[in-house]
Amino acid sequence: MIPDKSPRVLELEARLLAFMEEHIYPNEKRFYQEAEDQGPWRLYPIVEELKVKARAAGLWNMALPDPAHGMGLSNLEYAPLCEIMGRSHLAPEVFNCNAPDTGNMEVLARYGTPEQQKQWLEPLLNGEIRSAFAMTEPDVASSDAKNIQSSIIRDGDEYVVNGVKWYTTGATHPNCKIFIFMGKNDPDADPYRQQSMILVPRDAPGVKVVRSLPVFGYYGVPDRASEVHFDNVRVPAGNMLLGEGRGFEIAQGRLGPGRIHHCMRLIGLAERTLAKMCLRTQQRVAFGKPVAEQSVTRERVAEARILIEQNRLLTLRAAHMMDTVGNKEAKAEIAMIKIAVPNMVCQIADWAIQAFGGGGTGNDFGTANAYATARFLRLADGPDEVHRDQLARLEFKKQAARNDKGGVTDWGVWAPKIALPPEM
Ligand SMILES: Cc1cc2nc3c(=O)[nH]c(=O)nc-3n(C[C@H](O)[C@H](O)[C@H](O)COP(=O)(O)OP(=O)(O)OC[C@H]3O[C@@H](n4cnc5c(N)ncnc54)[C@H](O)[C@@H]3O)c2cc1C
Repeated sequence: MIPDKSPRVLELEARLLAFMEEHIYPNEKRFYQEAEDQGPWRLYPIVEELKVKARAAGLWNMALPDPAHGMGLSNLEYAPLCEIMGRSHLAPEVFNCNAPDTGNMEVLARYGTPEQQKQWLEPLLNGEIRSAFAMTEPDVASSDAKNIQSSIIRDGDEYVVNGVKWYTTGATHPNCKIFIFMGKNDPDADPYRQQSMILVPRDAPGVKVVRSLPVFGYYGVPDRASEVHFDNVRVPAGNMLLGEGRGFEIAQGRLGPGRIHHCMRLIGLAERTLAKMCLRTQQRVAFGKPVAEQSVTRERVAEARILIEQNRLLTLRAAHMMDTVGNKEAKAEIAMIKIAVPNMVCQIADWAIQAFGGGGTGNDFGTANAYATARFLRLADGPDEVHRDQLARLEFKKQAARNDKGGVTDWGVWAPKIALPPEM
């Protein structure tokens, strides 16, 4: 059973909804205009203005589960709030709850030394700086993190960092001051102990953000994707996170909550897209009746509602399991939502684009941007296929571990137990 929302969450939700009505939705037009005019390398003044208001309203750092750094909400408590912020591309950064900063803050909170926390976590918590997570590389299939080729080599009191990274979200942001960089420090070690994560300041000599990358033709919003070169960058040995060879360990910790935040936000985006679709199809009359009265529209609206409810429940279940039995035990549920939710939103955004007609493909209604967001999230947190592969493996293991009777050839029982292939 998933518990009801606590009074604290209900109170936060009411305040967040009021802030969205008063400050976020009325400023979206300005936000998209600024993003278009300024491009991906500049600040958007509306974001900076609203950050001050959000902080003053006590709606700040809601994502961080450690009360020493944030509000101390559980994943389940945060989910409905994150969903509300997900309704607008403008909202997450205004509340200092945006990716990849929340994931990076969590890494620093969990694994950072007091010095690292003072230097980088504090300004991140204050919203004074931004950060990026640099793992993916153009030259290797990075969905398999064992392939990462960048190097982090010890030299006296320093590490020397080399590599080319791309799709590094946030690097073009003028306030991006720190990278969490993943690379190999020992290519001969066990494959899961070769990689480390190290803090690389943006202004260290040899760091170059070479270009902004479009995401389905969009620059900046919904994602400041960038290519970054690290050429013989020297950083103090104290910048290593957790220790040499512990990159995978950190990745496990980092990618749990951070990834489910994307799912929570996407449910908000699905709700907003469905709301727009209902309004538009009621307003437009074609062949003698509102488009909303066409059975195909009704079918899609009904399906969209079912999909949203199913996906929200699955996301809440994953969040509750992470809180109660831990990220490891919840890994099947986490994989399920990472596959299901972006696909669900792609489908609803696709129906909405169709319902809006030609205008659906442009920027006036947010439908194309919603599609781009959902579609890139079928990759950005690891491709669907990788999560499906993991989920199938977990299912095979579960079936093999069932303790009811039955062998591989024994069909006369409830279900025959399977033998696990040796590679599992
Ligand atoms: C907008 C955006 C933002 C991003 N932000 C960041 C970021 O901030 N930091 C960062 O480091 N990375 C980021 N990424 C990169 C993202 O994590 C990678 O694109 C993703 O992990 C896939 O790696 P790849 O691009 O190298 O694809 P590849 O590894 O080359 O995979 C290509 C395709 O191969 C197939 N495939 C792979 N494995 C399997 C399998 N086991 N079974 C079946 N098929 C398989 C899949 O179809 C997959 O899409 C971002 C990506 C996007 C699009």
